[in-house]
Amino acid sequence: PQKQLIVVTPTYNRALQAFYLTRLGQTLRLVPPPLLWIVVEMNSASMDTADILRKTGVMYRHLVCARNSTNVKDRGVQQRNTALEHIEHHNLDGIVYFADDDNIYSIELFESMREIRRCGIWPVAMLAQSKNKAILEGPVCNGSQVIGWHTNEKSKKLRRFHVDMSGFAFNSTILWDHKRWHRSTSDPIRQLDRVKEGFQETKFIEQMVEDESQMEGIPHGCSRIMNWHLHLEARGLVHPKGWLLQKNLDVV
Ligand code: UDP
Repeated sequence: PQKQLIVVTPTYNRALQAFYLTRLGQTLRLVPPPLLWIVVEMNSASMDTADILRKTGVMYRHLVCARNSTNVKDRGVQQRNTALEHIEHHNLDGIVYFADDDNIYSIELFESMREIRRCGIWPVAMLAQSKNKAILEGPVCNGSQVIGWHTNEKSKKLRRFHVDMSGFAFNSTILWDHKRWHRSTSDPIRQLDRVKEGFQETKFIEQMVEDESQMEGIPHGCSRIMNWHLHLEARGLVHPKGWLLQKNLDVV
């Protein structure tokens, strides 16, 4: 049988949310099952999100993150942690992947993930509208062996692993490996740290693997881009409250 994929997506209400979730849902629909989509919202589950999820035809769970996050820069960290707790609590077996709602994913990516034994990693193309450029972030590989990293930004030199949130996936069995996680026993849940933005991925991965030798670069030679991290500046975009039209628009 095929390995289950557990795709974790934090999401929140904004102008492009329906567009993003519909696109991602339709991509996931094209991935051969078994696949579970865990979509996490903050504070409450919105009707719009529920409606989109129901229509995708993908097996999903719609969760709410009840923690109070006062940190405006949180950007989905607590929501991903809610999903990790859910996976751990229900002993879900599969390859866990953090897929933000706004990025673009190829079907090949999801198919390649099924080859991962422990922790898979690959290069991601980052498209930043504000910076007016596209760069690569992620591993340089020889076969499946990670031998170096793509990185361009000086400030990021301090990171141990140069990986984007959408550039790695891991076997959920790692979450049960209590010896790996440097956490107190009073807080046994394996989580993403609320460390500085840009360091969450590396801190999380540092707890899963000792070094590059325990990572599996995919696809062979890490030679193809399989997903794109998009930074579209859409703040302030005016949008209707929901996309369910109760009455016809005025016709002039
Ligand atoms: N996100 C969220 N609440 C927020 C900000 C972000 O749920 O207040 C989600 C967002 O929908 C996306 C992920 O977190 O799935 C990453 O957010 P964003 O793309 O804004 O971060 P960036 O990619 O710019 O770091």
